[in-house]
Amino acid sequence: MKDQGRLLSVSDLRVHFPGRKTGFMSKPLPIQVVNGVTFDVYRGETLGLVGESGCGKTTLGRALIRLGHSVVTGKIVFEGREISGISNREFRSLRKKMQMIFQDPFGSLNPRLTVGQMLGEVLLIHGIGRGEVARKRIEELLDVVGLNREYVNRYPHEFSGGQRQRLGIARAIAVNPEFIICDEPVSALDVSIQSQIINLLKDLQRDLGLTYLFIAHDLSVVEYISDRVAVMYLGKIVEIADSTELYANPKHPYTRALLSAIPNPEPGGKKERILLNGDLPGPLHIPSGCSFHPRCPVATAECRNREPKLLNLNHTDHQASCLLYE
Ligand code: SF4
Repeated sequence: MKDQGRLLSVSDLRVHFPGRKTGFMSKPLPIQVVNGVTFDVYRGETLGLVGESGCGKTTLGRALIRLGHSVVTGKIVFEGREISGISNREFRSLRKKMQMIFQDPFGSLNPRLTVGQMLGEVLLIHGIGRGEVARKRIEELLDVVGLNREYVNRYPHEFSGGQRQRLGIARAIAVNPEFIICDEPVSALDVSIQSQIINLLKDLQRDLGLTYLFIAHDLSVVEYISDRVAVMYLGKIVEIADSTELYANPKHPYTRALLSAIPNPEPGGKKERILLNGDLPGPLHIPSGCSFHPRCPVATAECRNREPKLLNLNHTDHQASCLLYE
């Protein structure tokens, strides 16, 4: 994918939310959820983004397309243009190219609109068409995502979870985007439906030349769909590599622990599970030095005081941030 060039480049991205006051005279402490993240996404690839709930991966995805009330600093370059400093008005014209598929398709679909009204509204807002043009496009979209054209007059509550996610996908591709952030798109679905939605996303990527940032906590799903994978811990990327390389040769102790939890598919096959101490700390209690040190099974005294950098290992594209490799 690299030969097709970068579609998105993110440098030192930080995202925080205004915190609450802890006392009458005190200033509110900002809640730092993404803490200096740098990565590229290449045209036509799927970059998987994994980590435990609360690590900041969804906040990162939403910040890229300016959803929510977070404060974002750092640099975002999309199609060669720096977009971090542009006004919300200018950004709106870009939203057509950057879409999102949400974890909860029901929550993200307006219950009062039929499928036809919902998709028609999207086409109208983005100036793609109305009337007959919109009607034909809606039929085409339903075909593409594997839904019956006759469903056009149905409301979201009349669909199953998998069908609603197909509608969420239809809405995202309706405006011919380049880049889609898939935020846990299958984690609320039954296992049998998950593979259908993943295969649909793969087919659409091939047919429409889409690029995905695929956010999930299920490492098996991420392995299946991703070309490269980034692992996030407490607001930072701690490892990033080609998918095959990362799953075969994980370097960061956190990645190793996550991968050790995937069941072995071989009958009778066993794997030694690496158990981590405690839970993920909250963003208001980020440990000093390497933020993973209180849970790391191989931490040393130095890890408490020195923060590791995300470095390329052995002159390859495999990057990890761990003092064991510095
Ligand atoms: Fe573990 Fe230390 Fe490496 Fe952090 S820097 S992952 S605490 S060994």
